Amino acid sequence: MQTIDKFNFAGKKAFVRVDFNVPLDENFNITDDTRIRAALPTLKKILNDGGSVIIGSHLGRPKGPSDTFSLKHILPHVSELLGVDVQFANDCIGEEAKVKASALQPGEVLLLENLRFYAEEEGKPRGLAEDASDEEKKAAKKAVKESQKKFTETLASYADCYVNDAFGTAHRAHASTALIAAYFDTDHKMFGYLMEKEVKAVEKILNDIVRPFTAIMGGSKVSSKIEIIENLLNKVDNLIITGGMTYTFTKALGGSIGQSICEDDKLDLALDLLKKAKEKGVNLVLAVDTKIADSFSNDAKTAFVDVDKIPDGWEGLDIGPKTEAIYADIIKKSKTILWNGPTGVFEFDNFTHGSRSVGEAIVEATKNGAFSLVGGGDSVACVNKFGLADGVSYVSTGGGALLEAIEGKVLPGIEAIRGY
Ligand code: AMP
Repeated sequence: MQTIDKFNFAGKKAFVRVDFNVPLDENFNITDDTRIRAALPTLKKILNDGGSVIIGSHLGRPKGPSDTFSLKHILPHVSELLGVDVQFANDCIGEEAKVKASALQPGEVLLLENLRFYAEEEGKPRGLAEDASDEEKKAAKKAVKESQKKFTETLASYADCYVNDAFGTAHRAHASTALIAAYFDTDHKMFGYLMEKEVKAVEKILNDIVRPFTAIMGGSKVSSKIEIIENLLNKVDNLIITGGMTYTFTKALGGSIGQSICEDDKLDLALDLLKKAKEKGVNLVLAVDTKIADSFSNDAKTAFVDVDKIPDGWEGLDIGPKTEAIYADIIKKSKTILWNGPTGVFEFDNFTHGSRSVGEAIVEATKNGAFSLVGGGDSVACVNKFGLADGVSYVSTGGGALLEAIEGKVLPGIEAIRGY
């Protein structure tokens, strides 16, 4: 497999798929440029070698061309960070893009307009009437798949090689994240540095495990985490199921959960997961106590109670101190740790304590030699909120992509480059 380090970009044009899907305020100022900074090592390596770069990205979820989702808003900041006057093509597959890409000289950079202005990027039909028949839907799908080939071919025609540095979209088989790779031979397609790091971190968690391996799965709903939990049951020694999911398990076990969040149609599933964990010898850990609130609010009245004795009119919004101690003890004895999802409603300052204590235990375990991976939107927000990001081994930039990889799925963006 080709690698970005080995490849000499001198005199070459590289199409680099990045994830510049950054948050913008109402005046189109970037409020967090982490994703742009994350791609800089890759872009700079190409430029320093004497290559030129064509950058492709999406921004938001446009339904077609739109000023709101234009990548022109981020052009000055990308130029500033790269130290290069970045050129811009108003239409990613228009004549202007072709001309500018072909005229690029070593050291020059061209940013293409939002790839998702075209339905062909995602390969999904747009603008179908709500009452469209199955036939019409099928025909529209076929049409967009056909025009997607031309779209992909055009993007590929700009460059001599393809670099994918967008882990955040690696779980999508889109034109620029996966299909384009088919237009380059094995020696001319590769991961960027960020993608390499992400893939390595996920593989360590899935295949290169030093035991004990503990996964902490938080978040609101069991239903959105079933596949991950089932896959993790084949791998971990300890599985801490926490956050809003707790109460579905507590209720399934016959406890009183008051008004706590609960998926009543998942009670059997919860019991089934407990049974599977037992059969596989996995220590599935649930909360024993909880911080309850008399309303879903930061200023609610609070109390600590056993997790299965929540009075009516109250709801569990975080774990209690006994549970914190149990979690911390397990985490500190672990050598491989995966954390996805908070222990409670961490957005409310009065219910952050449990998530913070998990983060701190992970930092301590990491100091003692454990490998720790934190990923999936909210846990990343947690470690950042508590200033703990530097104390863990790896903070993944991928939300959905990371979760699908942990579910054991092959990600199209990865497969397109290395074949599996
Ligand atoms: P997810 O997106 O499934 O990872 O869930 C994260 C969300 O779960 C966060 O917004 C938390 O506020 C929420 N959450 C965690 N614990 C609870 C709880 N006990 N009650 C309600 N929501 C919760």
